[in-house]
Amino acid sequence: MEMEQLVALCKRRGFLFQSSEIYGGLNGFWDYGPLGVELKRNIREAWWRDMVTGHNELDVPAGAPSAYEMTGLDSTIIMHPQVWKCSGHYDLFHDYLVDCRESKRRYRYDQVQGRWVSCKEQRIFVATEAGGQEGLEDTQQKALKYFNLRAKHVDELAWDGPLVSLTTIKDFSQVLGPDAKTLGTITEPREFNLMFETHTGAIRDESSKTFLRPETAQGIFVNFKNVLDSTRVKIPFGIAQIGKSFRNEITPRNFTFRSREFEQMEIEFFCHPSTSPQWYKYWRDRRYRWYLDLGLAGDRLRLRDHEKAELSHYSCGTADIEYAFPFLPPGEFGELEGVAHRGDFDLRSHTEGKLVRSGDSLVVELDAEGKPKYRGSGKDLTYFDDQTRERFIPHVIEPSAGADRAALAFLCEAYNEDEAPDENGKPAKRVFLKFHPRLAPVKAAVFPLVKKDGMPEVAKEIYSALKPHMNVFYDEKGAVGRRYRRQDEVGTPFCITVDGQTLQDGTVTVRDRDTLKQWRVKKEDCLGEIIERLRA
Ligand code: ATP
Repeated sequence: MEMEQLVALCKRRGFLFQSSEIYGGLNGFWDYGPLGVELKRNIREAWWRDMVTGHNELDVPAGAPSAYEMTGLDSTIIMHPQVWKCSGHYDLFHDYLVDCRESKRRYRYDQVQGRWVSCKEQRIFVATEAGGQEGLEDTQQKALKYFNLRAKHVDELAWDGPLVSLTTIKDFSQVLGPDAKTLGTITEPREFNLMFETHTGAIRDESSKTFLRPETAQGIFVNFKNVLDSTRVKIPFGIAQIGKSFRNEITPRNFTFRSREFEQMEIEFFCHPSTSPQWYKYWRDRRYRWYLDLGLAGDRLRLRDHEKAELSHYSCGTADIEYAFPFLPPGEFGELEGVAHRGDFDLRSHTEGKLVRSGDSLVVELDAEGKPKYRGSGKDLTYFDDQTRERFIPHVIEPSAGADRAALAFLCEAYNEDEAPDENGKPAKRVFLKFHPRLAPVKAAVFPLVKKDGMPEVAKEIYSALKPHMNVFYDEKGAVGRRYRRQDEVGTPFCITVDGQTLQDGTVTVRDRDTLKQWRVKKEDCLGEIIERLRA
């Protein structure tokens, strides 16, 4: 599948629109249209149901060290600024960027690649934002232009090595920027904090500065004690939250994959330090399976354990659940979710203050006067186990998923083309979205074959019977073949058609989106039939 086809379908059928499109759009912001909002709601609801409300705390799920409890939370987007100082985001949540003095464009330092080439007694580094084959072609085109060569003289370019990251380059004077015509226009990298700033209250000064949260997790940590004190949860337990997060990404790209406003689905799972490695493993596998169960194919989905060097300074283990998005070069994967073993870092930070690593341990970071650089809340965030009489700081396992990246992966995976007879019975290309029934925005469509002979009346009756239970679509316009195709294109699993036979024997046809098989059921059995098939 070409990404352009999916992007066009998403716009045409109302899954995704560019934000503020009538004003030219705003880079990194996306709106979900009438069908997109249903898809995303279904993803969120599947997650909430599978992780929280549907979780049975009396059972020990396969792979779990013991039974556990789950609760939910909905915290604010803007929080006390100290939250971000103690969590480390204020000092550390940055990417490196480079500017181009010629094109005035800005790039994320680690996203620019390039390759060395020699020609006409000069050796330069030709940079590009593209990867894989596209990156090779782009750098070749640029080098030809730079050295003023025709395509037929491409052999005069002597390439030295494959595409490598700009981060490997020490001397920027020989770099030809991705959008530059002259050498040495790329600036040295500098830090750029990704948190959006705002001010609370009428006075706009340093003291009123607040931030839009870049993750929902911190809202959970600062409510850990509230949840403990207001419920009867006992360790091990998890607090789940779904909500908007904001990151002022330097280069939003790849459709909704990297946006500046997005939605996260996060769990902070609190457990005893001695069992935390088993819980980490459990969540890693549990979350990976969740995507598989909802239809992401095994060969495009992978669970990747981070190398030691990749781990953040507090993490004892992290794994990413990744998907081979079609906009990435072959063999490359993009992150859908990170599952991290965070130890006691977060609860300690919010008690003691911002922590830094010192040898093997984490200590409070001090300022020039030897005082904590960012003071914690001082509140006791330990847990007392009244059975063992032990007091300890729980360890945390964090499965952190993005609802928008999940929606994009499910869309990419669902996109299918085949050949099926059109309304005139001739074979024609068919586009259909093969969503898992739980995720499909519309579960069933109801059609009268023709708009007469009492067929619309029966179809409307069936529609009304289904409507209280699921999202159903009624359509009586145009040829029935065309109506089927419109539903296939948005991933509706079943179409119900009232035809001439219905008026004689009270049966209707039900058609399956994927197999195109049709069968007859009694009109009053439609609801039961669809519910059963959606569950299957
Ligand atoms: P990346 O390396 O791709 O920037 P990350 O490692 O910074 O991601 P986390 O901080 O682990 O991401 O965030 C958890 C999840 O939130 C990600 O797995 C992803 O699904 C989602 N997410 C993070 N940043 C974005 C974004 N800019 N747009 C959409 N989703 C995002």
